[in-house]
Amino acid sequence: MASIFTQIIQGNIPCYKVAENDDFLAFLDINPNAKGHTLCIPKIEVDKLFDLDQETYHGLMEFSRKVAKALEKTVPCKRIGMSVIGLEVPHVHVHLIPLNHMEDIRFIQKTEMSAQQLEGLAQAIASHFEG
Ligand code: 5GP
Repeated sequence: MASIFTQIIQGNIPCYKVAENDDFLAFLDINPNAKGHTLCIPKIEVDKLFDLDQETYHGLMEFSRKVAKALEKTVPCKRIGMSVIGLEVPHVHVHLIPLNHMEDIRFIQKTEMSAQQLEGLAQAIASHFEG
């Protein structure tokens, strides 16, 4: 069965989209550690980061860098943190998280945001994305 992220790519499950090109998609995490927590994924469905082919791996890193730049311009923070875990969803994803405290990257404290806030934030980040 297609991963939940493949279903998002196919448009069967909605997301708060931040950026997209032919090979990659970025959208807000539905249960954010901090405001602006974004996931960057390849459109091909591969479980583990280091199993990606070299071109897709480097492409994902470059796409994530551009999304991080857009995030930095949108969300006040000390820096953008990056993490790859994948214990919950078996489809490669890079977590980009605006950091102000170490707790923001620990996946313990969560930030509640309304659908309206998430939609507005996704649009604001998207407006700063330079593809
Ligand atoms: P990991 O696999 O890296 O441990 O965590 C998966 C991440 O995906 C979590 O931060 C979780 O909140 C997020 N996530 C899981 N399902 C969905 C979904 O349907 N939509 C979005 N936007 N994020 C999701």
